[in-house]
Amino acid sequence: MGILTLKDLANFASSAPAEEQVMPMMFVGHGNPMNAIEDNEYTKQWKTLGERLPKPKAVLCISAHWLTRGTQVCIEEKPQTIHDFGGFPKALFDAQYPAPGAPFEAHLASTLIQTTKVEEVHDWGLDHGAWSVLMPMFPKADIPVFQMSIDYTKNPEYHYQLAKELSALRKKGVLIMGSGNIVHNLGRVQFSEQAYDWAVEFDAKAKELILAYDHDSLIHYERLGTAAKLSIPTNDHYLPLLYILGLQNEKDKLSFFNEKTTMGSISMTSVLMEQA
Ligand code: ZN
Repeated sequence: MGILTLKDLANFASSAPAEEQVMPMMFVGHGNPMNAIEDNEYTKQWKTLGERLPKPKAVLCISAHWLTRGTQVCIEEKPQTIHDFGGFPKALFDAQYPAPGAPFEAHLASTLIQTTKVEEVHDWGLDHGAWSVLMPMFPKADIPVFQMSIDYTKNPEYHYQLAKELSALRKKGVLIMGSGNIVHNLGRVQFSEQAYDWAVEFDAKAKELILAYDHDSLIHYERLGTAAKLSIPTNDHYLPLLYILGLQNEKDKLSFFNEKTTMGSISMTSVLMEQA
């Protein structure tokens, strides 16, 4: 991989014509890893989106399952399928998502971010936050994918602001996907589809705030009361949403999909942002 210089970046910025298509982006509630290999109401939506959206040159996934000290980007050409879970059927451990990496776009991402040093690494790949969604969405595994980690030492506002530095990627054919869950309380998971009241309440509140463009309240979710506290006991699955909100601009049209709480305390609510 050649070194990308500031001059390259300036050329890159000036070479992007104003009318260039801005890629859609989305926050996806990924939920149960079994979605990777199941045909269900959630994966049907992912599949439909994969067929309907403009074909990306590459996908950048910011997943709840890659938490680091400092921000890292994986520039690996052949990212491994990481089975980062336990107690699931062999079929899930056997599943492979052999999409190529996207070293050029990954390097571009690390260069676009100026406020912190982004470390380029090879020793990641695709965790299940990425591949469990991408497998149903782009089943041919022919679209290059790379991941950027979440610096888990930083506060929510930091992630929201950091995301903005990636906005040029949307004009370069990169589909940016945050993968987590708006409501995610594993300690309260139950094997029934009866959602807790607080889960339904916070999921609806988050949706209302997203629609109202009230990002400040979403960043400072801990001020939103008991339902928020129970829905976000730790914010690893919530932070990917803040990346997508940080990248949102006034031209983005919002739509929601998979608006449902599963296993009592996991909301699958997802949001797509696209420009005409
Ligand atoms: Zn997860």
